[in-house]
Amino acid sequence: MDAPSVTYLFDTPDFGTVTRAAEGILWVRLPLPFALNHINLYLLESETGWTVIDTGLGDPGTAEAWERVFAAHLGGKPVERVFVTHFHPDHMGQAGWMTERWGLPLTTSRTEWLIARMLASDDGDGSRHRASKLFYANSGVPEDVSSILTKRVDGYRRGVTPVPNAFERVKDGDVLTVGGVAWEVTVGRGHAPEHVGLYSAERNIFLSGDSILPRISPNISVWPAEPEADPLLDFMETLDEFTRRMPADVTVLPAHDAPFTGFHNRLADLAEHHRQRLTVLEEAMADRPLTAWDTVSVLFRPGMDPHQMSFALGEAIAHARRLVAEDRAVLEKPAVGPWLYHRG
Ligand SMILES: [Zn+2]
Repeated sequence: MDAPSVTYLFDTPDFGTVTRAAEGILWVRLPLPFALNHINLYLLESETGWTVIDTGLGDPGTAEAWERVFAAHLGGKPVERVFVTHFHPDHMGQAGWMTERWGLPLTTSRTEWLIARMLASDDGDGSRHRASKLFYANSGVPEDVSSILTKRVDGYRRGVTPVPNAFERVKDGDVLTVGGVAWEVTVGRGHAPEHVGLYSAERNIFLSGDSILPRISPNISVWPAEPEADPLLDFMETLDEFTRRMPADVTVLPAHDAPFTGFHNRLADLAEHHRQRLTVLEEAMADRPLTAWDTVSVLFRPGMDPHQMSFALGEAIAHARRLVAEDRAVLEKPAVGPWLYHRG
C-alpha cells in the first residue's frame, strides 16, 4: 500500500481548460463548491457530433463554462448524446439544461434516472423529512446535528436543473458506438445503485465516472431511504467483477482527480481499504456497544462540515451493516433509544 499503485497520465489542468485525454476524447475540469473541489467531464467525438459524459453541478457557473466549451471546442458539430453515469448532483446537475439546450433525451440507467427524479421531487407531505429524522434518531445522532442533516434532505433539488421527465435507458452490457468505436456499458454498484461507465476493449479505455477513483475511495453509504441497505457488499462485488472484466493496463478516465493507469492495483487497494476499516470497527465493538454515531468517530477524524458528516455517517453505517451481514456483529434495535451494534 506504500508504493504509489496508480500512475497519473497528466498534470492537473486549470479549471475550465479542455485537454485532449486521448484521440477523440476531450476532458473538461470544472470547479465544485465542496471539499472535493472539482469534477472531470468528458466529450467523445464522432463524425456527426459529440457524446457528453456527465454534466456537472446544476449551478449557473457550470452552464456558462459549458457554453464556453461548446463555442470553442466542438468544431461546429452538435452535442448528440448526454450520458450521465449516476444521479449525484455533480454528475446529473446540468442534465436537464443540457438536454433542453440540444433537444436530446437523457441517457442513463433506469435506477439512476428514477432516484434523480425521486430526490428532485417535492417532499409534499414531509414524509422524506420524517424518514430522515427517524434514520438519524435510530443512528444516535445528537439533536443539533440531526436537525442540520435533516435540512439537507432538500439539498438535491438545489443542486440540479430539472431532471428530464423521460430518458433513454442503458443497461449493463449494452454497446454504444461512438465514431466507429464500441463502448460497452459497465454497471458498478455501491457508490450509486446502478452507476454506468463505458469501456472500450478496442481503445483499452474505461470511463469510470465515480465507480472507481484513483485517490479517494468512492463514498459507499447507507441513506435514510433504505436504512438497512448493504452497499459495501455491492461495491466489493463490483471490484471483483471489474477485475475480471477489464485488463490491468486499461487507461481509466475518472470523474475526479486525473486519468490513470494501474487499474487492478487500485481495485485491490480499495478492497483492502474496506477490509481494514471493517477490522478496525469490529475491534472497537469489542469494547462496548456502538451507535452508528459512535462508529463515525471510530472511522473518521473530527472537524467535518455537515456535507462531509452526512457522507461519513452513511459510510460508517455501511461498514457496520457489512459486519452484521458477515456475522461479525449483531444489530440490536432497543424499544427506546438508538440502534446498537455489538459483538454479540
Ligand atoms: Zn458520485
